[in-house]
Amino acid sequence: MNIQDTIQQLRSELDQHNYNYYVLDQPQISDFEFDQKLKALHELELAHPEFFDPNSPTQRVGGAITKNFQTVVHDYRMYSLDNSYSKEDLLDWETRIQKVLGNVPIDYSCELKYDGASISITYENGKLSKAVTRGDGFQGDDVTNNIKTIKSIPLQLKGNYPEYFAIRGEIILPFAGFEKMNQELIEIGETPFANPRNTASGSLKLQDSAEVAKRPLDCLLYSLVGNNFPFQSQFEGLQTARDWGFKAPKEAKLAKNLAEVFEFISYWDVHRHQLPYETDGVVIKVNNLQYQEELGYTAKSPRWAIAYKFKSEQVSTILESISYQVGRTGAITPVANLMAVQLAGTVVKRASLHNADQIEKLDIRVGDTVFVEKGGEIIPKIIAVDLEKRPEKSEVTCYITACPECQTSLVRSEGEANHYCPNFYGCPPQIIGRIQHFISRKAMDIEGLGGETVALLFKNGLVHNYADLYDLTIEQILPLERMAQKSAENLVNGVAKSKEIPFESVLFALGIRFVGETVAKKLAKHYKTITALEQASLEDLILVDEIGERIAKSVIDFFGNDENIAIIERLRTKGVQLEIVEKVNPNATTKFSGKTFVVSGVFEQFSRDDLKKAIEDNGGKVGSSISSKTDYIVAGDNMGPAKLEKATKLGITILSEMAFITLLQS
Ligand code: AMP
Ligand code: ZN
Repeated sequence: MNIQDTIQQLRSELDQHNYNYYVLDQPQISDFEFDQKLKALHELELAHPEFFDPNSPTQRVGGAITKNFQTVVHDYRMYSLDNSYSKEDLLDWETRIQKVLGNVPIDYSCELKYDGASISITYENGKLSKAVTRGDGFQGDDVTNNIKTIKSIPLQLKGNYPEYFAIRGEIILPFAGFEKMNQELIEIGETPFANPRNTASGSLKLQDSAEVAKRPLDCLLYSLVGNNFPFQSQFEGLQTARDWGFKAPKEAKLAKNLAEVFEFISYWDVHRHQLPYETDGVVIKVNNLQYQEELGYTAKSPRWAIAYKFKSEQVSTILESISYQVGRTGAITPVANLMAVQLAGTVVKRASLHNADQIEKLDIRVGDTVFVEKGGEIIPKIIAVDLEKRPEKSEVTCYITACPECQTSLVRSEGEANHYCPNFYGCPPQIIGRIQHFISRKAMDIEGLGGETVALLFKNGLVHNYADLYDLTIEQILPLERMAQKSAENLVNGVAKSKEIPFESVLFALGIRFVGETVAKKLAKHYKTITALEQASLEDLILVDEIGERIAKSVIDFFGNDENIAIIERLRTKGVQLEIVEKVNPNATTKFSGKTFVVSGVFEQFSRDDLKKAIEDNGGKVGSSISSKTDYIVAGDNMGPAKLEKATKLGITILSEMAFITLLQS
């Protein structure tokens, strides 16, 4: 097979595996195998830029930056949908339809109404060519680069598709992915996202497509627009879209009459809570495309379709008070304390108010009767105030100006939604929060010590920062509430054991703002010791893979603080790991010392990383490109001919995987 065919074959294989995984949810190979194939393809593409394809599966990792999103006119307008809220509304709708069509039997395609951001994706000759947001319906923004990173969207179609057409759908963020993203944000002291829908639509407008690629977005498709389609009805259209490789949810159902439509609605009104993503209703569409054409459009929406909105579960209750919580990073979150009320099967007593703007926008006042709703987020939110029930002497809510815990004046930086308490070292919830983060599972993983005990230790004056944990003695802890000999011993032992936790986790545990688990790993790997990291300049930090200016500044701030330095020095004297411990390999030799290797292609016995490690463990160096300094090339399958040619020209020894193993064992 020639190179071009090999590349082509790898691409279709990978497309198929993406489809199996992200559309069918039935992976056929392991993630590791998938990554190996993707790597192999990537290398071939690098060696052969002449075969570049913007729709190659390697392009899904993103990287393209869009500074300004171009406005694009839709070939076919993107309409809104009329809404209905009751059976009567739907009966009226059918009557209107029958006036146009006569008294013919009408069947309906019933679909879920996915709550996300609408998108129109154009395909030319089976390849994704353009993706545009809805905008005002006539024109939207070209977000092609970002859309291509969503794995369930095919870049290359299968089967018999028309030369040119568009497909419409909704970009969504499933609950699980949303929760995970928020968890990670909370861990590094960032404000979590408010709800999946806004996060999904916000993601489409990110400038860096590599950032979009990291978000667990999905795309659910619901209609094909264009000419020369091989089907006569909406429902067949959905099936056809599936055949071509699109994710068109299987929940859609064909109803022979309105009675069956009602059944569909009743069923999903209850069961939608079990879906992995958010829905806000059902869309009912006249199934026959001929009929759709006869019915046409109003100024805003098709006459042949209607949305039925589920009543979001909403209750009204009284706002008793507003309290203000202070987080680990000092961020203030206002919380509504409500008169207890039942909502969606749980008792609700509190609701999130987000920030000062939110309170001002809704003009929420203590004593008000408010409407509370449960959306995609865990804590319910207040959506409106019942002004008619407002007590006569109610007072406008004044947002606090001082920290409720330490009385320090709050600050609010330009462009930030939240107020902050700047008293980093003296504000109790910040101190406690930082220690709680320090001991958490992904950080120092201290067994025998929980969040409440940390608060207790602080209140009793036993700890003021995380270094103090290492001075705790059993005698000090024993007198505390609910402490027995055994639990006190466990605590002290747990703390002692945390000295074995590797540097990268320690770095995460320090709680530097914006330094999450991944960033901590990157920094630890790059700088190897905390001293090196302390001394790094802003410019230097930014050069590290994936470290941007915001993170770099935060690191500089952290180490610029004397108190932090003092705490770190105490951690050092206690024996906490502040540098990477290179594992000594018993098989290490110096047999490759002075030799430089380049590794190319895929291997059978070794992963590429293991292969590189084997070289380094034996004193060799691994270079990234072939040059006159290269001594050996270890060539696996698929090594590009361009590399081969270069190597031959320079007279470099080329080793097969077997030959390398022989050399290694010699
Ligand atoms: P609205 O924004 O309330 O006018 O509702 C119209 C929007 O619902 C469309 O622009 C689509 O983005 C969205 N939608 C979600 N699911 C569907 C579906 N199954 N069929 C049609 N539109 C849908
Ligand atoms: Zn404070």
